[in-house]
Amino acid sequence: MVEISEVKDKSGREHRTATHTHIKGLGLDEYGAAKQIDGGFIGQTEAREACGVIVDLIKAKKMSGKAILLAGGPGTGKTALALAVSQELGPKVPFCPIVGSEIFSTEVKKTEALMENFRRAIGLRIKETKEVYEGEVTDLTPEESENPLGGYGKTISHVVVGLKSAKGTKTLRLDPSIYETIQKEKVSIGDVIYIEANTGAVKRVGRSDAYATEFDLEAEEYVPLPKGDVHKKKEIIQDVTLHDLDVANARPQGGQDVLSVMGQLLKPKKTEITEKLRQEVNKVVQKYIDQGVAELVPGVLFIDEVNMLDIECFTYLNRALESQIAPIVILASNRGMTTVRGTDDIVAPHGIPTDLVDRLLIVRTLPYSFEEISKIIGTRATIEGLPLNGDALNKLTTHGTNVSLRYSLQLLAPAGILSKANGHSEITGGDIEEVETLFIDAKRSTKILESGKGFL
Ligand code: ATP
Repeated sequence: MVEISEVKDKSGREHRTATHTHIKGLGLDEYGAAKQIDGGFIGQTEAREACGVIVDLIKAKKMSGKAILLAGGPGTGKTALALAVSQELGPKVPFCPIVGSEIFSTEVKKTEALMENFRRAIGLRIKETKEVYEGEVTDLTPEESENPLGGYGKTISHVVVGLKSAKGTKTLRLDPSIYETIQKEKVSIGDVIYIEANTGAVKRVGRSDAYATEFDLEAEEYVPLPKGDVHKKKEIIQDVTLHDLDVANARPQGGQDVLSVMGQLLKPKKTEITEKLRQEVNKVVQKYIDQGVAELVPGVLFIDEVNMLDIECFTYLNRALESQIAPIVILASNRGMTTVRGTDDIVAPHGIPTDLVDRLLIVRTLPYSFEEISKIIGTRATIEGLPLNGDALNKLTTHGTNVSLRYSLQLLAPAGILSKANGHSEITGGDIEEVETLFIDAKRSTKILESGKGFL
């Protein structure tokens, strides 16, 4: 028996979506038509509308066994569109963006790496009904005792929390281990919190306007959990991915992040994620789904530069798409006819074997106009708090047209630093000129190499 517990993804993947924070959805009206500017998007209206139809197909469960391909030049919004599709599917729908080449490593088998990302893109919404103490914090003090080990100072013997609710006021005496959580959650007097009756886990749920100080409780009033009348049954919803569950059960960990509903199973913890462990996790997940405790939330797995995958990966992908618990797979490519990696002579569109191409709905993204690029750069500059003057915006837009939108957007942050150093209140054309001599684009870099002079 193994225990299923939750862990937060600490791999820092959020930075991958950091450049898309302005994207809030596909920006379509009730008839599925795209407004020129909406949802954070500027232009690319046909592709957005096509993605809207795909969202409808997904919702109608008509996409099983199929996948989507976004085909278009670099920086034409393929990642942004895939993210928007996941946003349109609902709140807390997982979005897992990867680049084809990243699954090749010397440590992990490529199909293993693919599987891991499939599981990052499948969410599980767990509903638990727990008996909790909920109320406004009126008193919160760590009670110190003499250190029993004879060391210096004192240790915390327990934490005292006064709770005021409609039913009355209660003082709870909690295990010292809770102190860390209270600090992490920044719980203080006046907050509304709930405390699980059986585990004593603390969760901050908000801040009340009424700041209560009038309850000066005496030590004798302290009662141990779980007796008391300031409690009720509460539905708690947690969103995790299957990969979170794999990780949590593969590596022992401390802390309070344990999903109690899943706490009874899967023990002891294994040291690595194996196929066997995944199957065990699946079994428990299936059981919770059958019991109505949990619900699967298929998310979006986005694979950019799909031509980097090889024939084995494509075979795996084909099979994985057939699985009952597959996420929505969105591939992206900026290549035309290319040899399929891992084969000697199979040339196929986007380097994707025909049996997979047959399953694809293909959406084309088109290059942007000067005005569109200018607006996209302007939007990102505002979001990043980096004001641009007209000349700077013009220069960046020109680079966006001649080089790539990516390059222009990448120049924004260093240009911001330079302009501050130059004492400017906004980024000027001069700052952009300076920054582009510091950071060359891919084309210029290639030219220098091809000239035979090299960088030295
Ligand atoms: P590549 O395949 O070369 O990685 P891509 O096609 O995935 O590029 P994105 O990364 O989506 O392109 O776009 C580059 C940047 O421009 C991102 O910050 C993205 O959010 C923004 N962007 C792209 N298209 C639009 C658009 N139509 N409206 C607003 N922002 C956009």
